[in-house]
Formats: sequence, C-alpha cells, structure tokens
Amino acid sequence: MSGQKFTLDHAKQLDNKDELASFREEFYIKEDGVYLDGNSLGLLSKRAEKSLLELLDSWKSYGIDGWLEGKHPWFYLSEALGKMSAPLVGAEPDEVIVTGSTTANLHQLVSTFYKPEGKRTKILADEITFPTDIYALKSQIELKGYDPEEHLIRVKSTDGHLLAEEDIIAAMTDEVSVVVLSGILYRSGQVLDMERLTKEAYNRNIIIGFDLCHSIGSIPHELSNWGADFAFWCNYKHLNGGPGAVGGLYVNKRHFGKTPGLTGWFGSRKDKQFDMEHTLIPADDAGAYQMGTPHIFSLAPLLGSLEMFNEAGMDRIRKKSMQLTGYMMDLIAHELDGYDFVVRNPIEDEKRGGHLFLEHPEAARICKALKAHHIIPDFRSPNGIRLAPVALYNTFEEVWRTVQKLKKIMDDEEYKQFENKRGVVA
Ligand SMILES: *Cc1c(COP(=O)(O)O)cnc(C)c1O
Repeated sequence: MSGQKFTLDHAKQLDNKDELASFREEFYIKEDGVYLDGNSLGLLSKRAEKSLLELLDSWKSYGIDGWLEGKHPWFYLSEALGKMSAPLVGAEPDEVIVTGSTTANLHQLVSTFYKPEGKRTKILADEITFPTDIYALKSQIELKGYDPEEHLIRVKSTDGHLLAEEDIIAAMTDEVSVVVLSGILYRSGQVLDMERLTKEAYNRNIIIGFDLCHSIGSIPHELSNWGADFAFWCNYKHLNGGPGAVGGLYVNKRHFGKTPGLTGWFGSRKDKQFDMEHTLIPADDAGAYQMGTPHIFSLAPLLGSLEMFNEAGMDRIRKKSMQLTGYMMDLIAHELDGYDFVVRNPIEDEKRGGHLFLEHPEAARICKALKAHHIIPDFRSPNGIRLAPVALYNTFEEVWRTVQKLKKIMDDEEYKQFENKRGVVA
C-alpha cells in the first residue's frame, strides 16, 4: 500500500464502492461507537425485530391456533427456517433444520453417528476447539462405556493457534469412528479445508461432522457437494438471530431414515405426530433430529435475518469480509508496528475467517480501554483480542477509526487506567 492508502479518505472511498453498504441502514447501530463483536453476538436488524413482533402478534391473535394459522404457522417454522438456512451451508432444503443449540445438536448428532464397533471406538477432535465441544464429546464417549482419556483424540495445534490439515488427516486411523472439527476456529479464525478433510474421512470410512458456529454467515459452504455427514451451529453470532437464538443442524441425505440417538415427538413425521402413538415414526429428513416443542420467539428473528443473508448472498458477504479483515491487517501492520501486538490469525485470504485475532500482554485492559471509547472488541483469555468487522453492518471507515484509536490508547498508555483482568463474561 502507498501512504495515501492509510488515509481516512481512502477508507471512505472503499465504503463508497461497497455493494453491500445499504444493509447497514437496516441494523440498530450506535453511531458514536464501533461494534466489532458480531462473531460473538450479532446486532439486531429491523427485519429481525419485525419478524419477532409478527410472531408475538400471532400469539396475541390466534392463541393455540397459531400452530397452524397466521403468516408463519409455528408448527412448520423450524422447517421453514431450515430451508432458508440451506443456501448458507450449501445443503438441500430438507437436509437442514433449525432446532436446539450448538451443544444440544452436537449431543444429538454424535449420539446418532458415534457407533463404536470392533477397533473403531474413538472420536477425533482437536486440542484448541471450543470447550463445550470437548465436554459433549467426552460425555458421549462415557455414555458408550469408554474412557474419554483414551477414546477422545485431540489433534495438536502447530503453534497453539492453528491446525495443520495434514496432522488431522494423519490422525484419521482405523481406530477412529467419528471426526468433529470446526469450520472456522473460534480463536484464531483459521478456516479449515472442510472439503479436503471430508474427502479424506470418507476414504477411510470415518464419519465427519463440522461445528459451523464461526463459519455460518461468514464464509460459503458446500456441505452436500463435499459429502459431509453432519454439521451444527448457533444462529446468534454472524447470523444475528439474537441472544440464545435457536441453533441449526445439517444431516446429509444419504443418512435419512436413521433413527436419531435422542428422539422426541417433534422429530415425528408431521402427519403422524398428533396420532400420539407410542411408536415414533421419524420424519424422513433432517426434521427427525428435533426433540421437543420449538422455542418460537427464539426462532422468530431468524425469519428477518436469514432473508437478508439470502438477499446479500454468501459470495458477496465473503468478498467484503475478506476485504475488511485484509484492510484491518494492513492498517495494523502500518500503524501498530512495534507495539507488541502479534497477529495470530492466518494471513492468507482463503484461510482467514471473519475475524482477526491479536495477542498482547495487556490485552484485557486494552479491550477495556477500547470499550471506554465505545469500540466493542472481544477479549479471549489470557491475552487475545478478537476484532470482527462484519460485512453486513461494519464499514471501512470504522476499521480505520478503530486502528487509530488503538494507536492512541497505546501511545497515551490509556489502558493503564484499567485492571488487566477479564470480566465474568469475556
Ligand atoms: C459459540 C460456540 C459454541 C456455543 O455453543 P452453545 O451451545 O450455543 O452455547 C460452541 N462451539 C463453538 C465452536 C462456538 O464458537
């Protein structure tokens, strides 16, 4: 970049050329700050608010009849949202259902697909994944009567932040029954080569599933084409479904007809559910993986939100996201050289997800200083700062302002006014 590229004017030019710029106006944004935590909890959009209010109104207007009446009958809402989510993961509409939470869906899918047999008794994950994934896998192993110490293999990271696909593939031995990995790692933001890993697992007769919490709404996926067996995700991060939004899952159609590990009456064939028989007839698609009555008001915002993602399209979202994170890295390299920040996310565009991950010994209090200026980063213990400029509502100018502010906080040693300790939620 030449010097002119580091100016505010240049940031403004990039915003003027942004094809997705109009989406920002649909979000509730505080103009006196910069929200860079959309990978942890996305912001509310007017469309999501509208769809939530519509469903609240359907309760008011219809009472019990809301299950089948109104604009969005509750009985079919999880399926309707599954169809709307399918393009984001590259699946067929009936391969996706919006239900449960990440952790609950992981339990559901592993309880279905983990069938230890003979030598094949192990689950393969990695040592830097999100803790809930490991807790769930350990309990699934214990439920089958095995010792997680021995039966959960955690692939080592190359440097504490990244994974090498070769290492994962090398660990796919004939003792492995199921592999569970993230599409994008929650700390470093590394994008794993899901297509390659799926192919390698398939060639070895190993079932493979992906946690898409950080990748859905951030990068395009081709789950059906790749042939991935299953996937699961939350909808409150990049998808802006609201705190505690209902999650989602995908099951490849070659597995349709299996009885899920954890059954419940909402997994019934729709036309059979109210026969109230004690023998379950599971839905013949991903709907079978539902358990109980859906949480309608935690599904509702997704109607508005997913509509926006489908309008914007994942290719355009990914393109702008790469531009935003790339631009932010260039500014950091230019403005913050010599300030002890270490960039831990992958540098290459294809391997870099929707956020940057910086390490700094004073990270906790640098985050507090940013927040005092209404710039919202995401602290990750012990010394990580995640910064997520997201495509639908962040601007290049915000990225520019953030890096300028960060430089000022360092130059003036403003962070020293705060304790270098994390809060309860961080
Ligand atoms: C956010 C996140 C979760 C959260 O799980 P919940 O059940 O929704 O609380 C799980 N795994 C990963 C990788 C995440 O990023």
